[in-house]
Amino acid sequence: MTASAPQKAYVLHRRPYRETSLLVELFSERDGRVGVVARGGRKPRKGGPVLEPFRPLEVAWTGRGELRNLAGAEPAGSAAALQGEALYLGLYLNELLVRLCPRFDPYPRVFEVYEQALAALAGGERDFPLRRLERCLVEDLGVAPDWGRCSGCGASVEPEEYYALEAERGLLCGACSPAEAAFPGRAVRFLAGAEGDPGPEDRRRARDLMRAVLGPHLGPRPLESRALLQSVRRRGGRS
Ligand SMILES: [Zn+2]
Repeated sequence: MTASAPQKAYVLHRRPYRETSLLVELFSERDGRVGVVARGGRKPRKGGPVLEPFRPLEVAWTGRGELRNLAGAEPAGSAAALQGEALYLGLYLNELLVRLCPRFDPYPRVFEVYEQALAALAGGERDFPLRRLERCLVEDLGVAPDWGRCSGCGASVEPEEYYALEAERGLLCGACSPAEAAFPGRAVRFLAGAEGDPGPEDRRRARDLMRAVLGPHLGPRPLESRALLQSVRRRGGRS
């Protein structure tokens, strides 16, 4: 069977499949998320494992249907060196993509921002690459609120005002929302990329706002990487 043309991809997740194979979720540049079976993928490979997270690969697959057969995977660079907390943040990004991206739906902009995020995490950055990828993802999935205005009265989002998020309606200013307007406009504008670093408190509020945007789409099952990260931070004495 003819294999697909090779393209760049990353391993998002892998698990044992049958006797010696692996079931691998890939995030590919042209086709988005793709599930492939790597036959014999659990056998030791000369030169070490290739199908590992955070390493750029050139992959090709054969077959049709929901699961394809991996026809080839070659390293296309070295893996992003993610250690400690950065590793868990990287795993969080992978889990987001697995949960939210439908298979065979291309997200080229998300792919680009994902690569940038891995490099930024490896370089020691924390909040910024995460928020950038989350924002790109919700926008390209079509589930982002309008970051720029109140969806009730249309007034533009002001740094000093506070806003509520309603799942059905989006961002609402204090006058338009019956709920408590808990998110500072500065945090909203930071998420939208309209403002630089607003400081630790507003960065936390931006994280919480993004969590509220993502929540309904992630479903009730908690994110494994989030629980892992929390336990790592507890052990390290951080909240
Ligand atoms: Zn309003």
